[in-house]
Amino acid sequence: MKNKEIKVLLAAPRGFCAGVDRAIEIVKKSIDKYGSPVYVRHEIVHNKHVVENLKKIGAIFVEELSEIKDKTRPVIFSAHGVPKNVPLEAKNLNMEFVDATCPLVSKVHREAENLNKNGCHIILIGHKNHPEVIGTMGQIPNGGIDLIENVEDVKKYENKNDKNLAFVTQTTLSVDDTKEIIYALKKKFPNIKEPKKEDICYATTNRQAAVKKIAKECEMFFVLGSRNSSNSVRLVEVARKSGCANALLIHSESIIPFEKIAACKTIGVSSGASAPEILVKNFINDLKNKYSLKIQEVEIVKEDVNFKIPGKLN
Ligand code: SF4
Repeated sequence: MKNKEIKVLLAAPRGFCAGVDRAIEIVKKSIDKYGSPVYVRHEIVHNKHVVENLKKIGAIFVEELSEIKDKTRPVIFSAHGVPKNVPLEAKNLNMEFVDATCPLVSKVHREAENLNKNGCHIILIGHKNHPEVIGTMGQIPNGGIDLIENVEDVKKYENKNDKNLAFVTQTTLSVDDTKEIIYALKKKFPNIKEPKKEDICYATTNRQAAVKKIAKECEMFFVLGSRNSSNSVRLVEVARKSGCANALLIHSESIIPFEKIAACKTIGVSSGASAPEILVKNFINDLKNKYSLKIQEVEIVKEDVNFKIPGKLN
């Protein structure tokens, strides 16, 4: 098969975003500062490769603070953000904590909080049970925020309050699906207040636009990323909706469909915001072992975003 040539369109930007970079750096710097172990509440970012590497240098991952045996050790909150009761619980337990919530998620938290203070009832557009959604809903007192996942939910939704409605969104949603949900919301509730600047983050928007640009030229599309990564799963959906029906997520347990790839002239590759570039490199190398590849990177925009790490780690 080595003489079979396959064109690989590499979407760019892809992979790590500034929030993920920062969160991983926070774990590393915390281990430097406090020694190991350092606890991390929830996967710091949704990627198995990242989590396993951090475990090797002294991070212990838990889902709740109650699982932490030695409360004298510090705990880091993941990039997805946490409900307000979590830092409160850490304070009550006298635990040292470092918040690795992405600043763009924190922006949505503050937005929701202000809307609530100003008397609005909030609708959050997002995916049920995703930690970011749990974190954003947990900024608002009970009953002050409702979750909507799709246009069907909008149809069923009734404003049972006398309050004005406002909406915010998860940062990692499909740009196109969210537009449809927002359109339906505005049609049903013409006075609904919207965020000044949209909540879907630059990294999500850029990665989806890059996939969209090349998907129709590809017979198969591969997105490197974990199954619980909202960002990565959305990229697969975007590739399918943008003209490449045969789009797949390649996660840690995936079997690469070499036979199907052999039948393609052109394939597309991208990776979610929590997937390190090494996963793309390994995937390409696996293909190189079998076929002769003609790789072309298609970059739609250059990203230049950096977030500072918390001062106490400097
Ligand atoms: S995907 Fe967006 S919101 Fe999430 S960590 Fe990255 S930059 Fe922040």
